[in-house]
Amino acid sequence: MIVILKPEANQTAVDHLIHNFEEMGLSTHYSQGAHTTLIGLIGDTSKIDMDIISANEIVASVKRISEPYKATNRKFHPNDTIIEINGKKFGEGFFNVIAGPCSIESEEQLISIAKDVKKSGASFLRGGAFKPRTSPYAFQGLQNEGLKLLSQAKKETGLPIVTEIMNLNHIDLFNDVDVIQVGARNMQNFEMLKELGQCDKPILLKRGLSNTIEEWLMSAEYIMAGGNNNIILCERGIRTFETMTRNTLDISAIPLLKKISHLPVIVDPSHATGIPWLVKPLAKAAVVAGADGVMIEVHNNPAKALCDGPQSLTPIEFDHVMKIIDSMVATELKKMNR
Ligand code: PEP
Ligand code: MN
Repeated sequence: MIVILKPEANQTAVDHLIHNFEEMGLSTHYSQGAHTTLIGLIGDTSKIDMDIISANEIVASVKRISEPYKATNRKFHPNDTIIEINGKKFGEGFFNVIAGPCSIESEEQLISIAKDVKKSGASFLRGGAFKPRTSPYAFQGLQNEGLKLLSQAKKETGLPIVTEIMNLNHIDLFNDVDVIQVGARNMQNFEMLKELGQCDKPILLKRGLSNTIEEWLMSAEYIMAGGNNNIILCERGIRTFETMTRNTLDISAIPLLKKISHLPVIVDPSHATGIPWLVKPLAKAAVVAGADGVMIEVHNNPAKALCDGPQSLTPIEFDHVMKIIDSMVATELKKMNR
């Protein structure tokens, strides 16, 4: 981190500032040039609040030259993180497909979709019991009843289950859940992230609607700071000026994250586009870009779905996408999880 000083900064105030930094356990490097005087900070600056330093009357500006994310940073953890869930691995070249309805609607709906996606080769079943809806008048999910149906589907198919948490008060209902999803709208719910850091379940952390990759990694840091290192990042599209798709899939986020972080990364082409026929090309793009998996919404009757029907694939369409993913995964020298 570099602290650039104002030209009029008096030496006593500068000495005082340097002393403060050293008291924080940092080494300092003072450099007085013809036009600019600065203090270089050496050491772990991740806990430094740049705003507090900027507010000092002798400081002109503060610049970070190292990344604020540490636990998620590949620099300090060169090998891929491998997350094992019910015998299935994320990372180490494995490719996982998470599939299922946007929301759990009934026993008949969920069990039939679960059996279909399993037959097509999905490795995890998804389904929302608590739904984050823009309108308070829209279907909010079957809640506790939905979680029970998800457990039943897990028992009947053997597929591990993924579902979203919306409120920490519900955490005790998630005992049978294999992967807890933090949705885009809660990516920066810091109190929730801190609590999930204390739990021993893997977390699927979706990217926020308008969040940068760095902010996303900082949210993962919150979870890791509590001791939970089992995080899967999910790129689900971001808001841009484009209106033809529901969001814009940031495909470059995948190779970028794989380079700067050791965490597994998956892609959700359903929420990224909102258009079912775009799911196939974007799932293909995800495989080639190096993703560790995809999450796809599947519904047995999309026209009647209570949530996100228009973007859902039918089981037959999903089966077709799975066949394509299967052959591509083999070419990319990855292993399909079954
Ligand atoms: C979901 O996966 O059901 C969902 C609500 O997604 P997102 O948080 O990405 O909008
Ligand atoms: Mn959805």
